[in-house]
Amino acid sequence: MEHTCSMCGTTYDFVWKEGTPLPKNFPFCSARCKATDLSKWINEEYAINTPLPETILSDTERELLAELAELGLRIEDEKA
Ligand SMILES: [Zn+2]
Repeated sequence: MEHTCSMCGTTYDFVWKEGTPLPKNFPFCSARCKATDLSKWINEEYAINTPLPETILSDTERELLAELAELGLRIEDEKA
């Protein structure tokens, strides 16, 4: 199915079957968008009313989020 990246608005093909790991960068089109979004979470720029994908994440995905969160912080450091 098609999915629109909530970070950059790009529409991309999203393939996922229930019971399998989510696409690596879900719900974003790329690692860059995912890292950018995570850096916003870290900075608490997101309102609580934004539906978070946490409930559909596996433990593996949560670990990946933690890794990407660190990546996002590094990106912010480089911009500064
Ligand atoms: Zn994107």
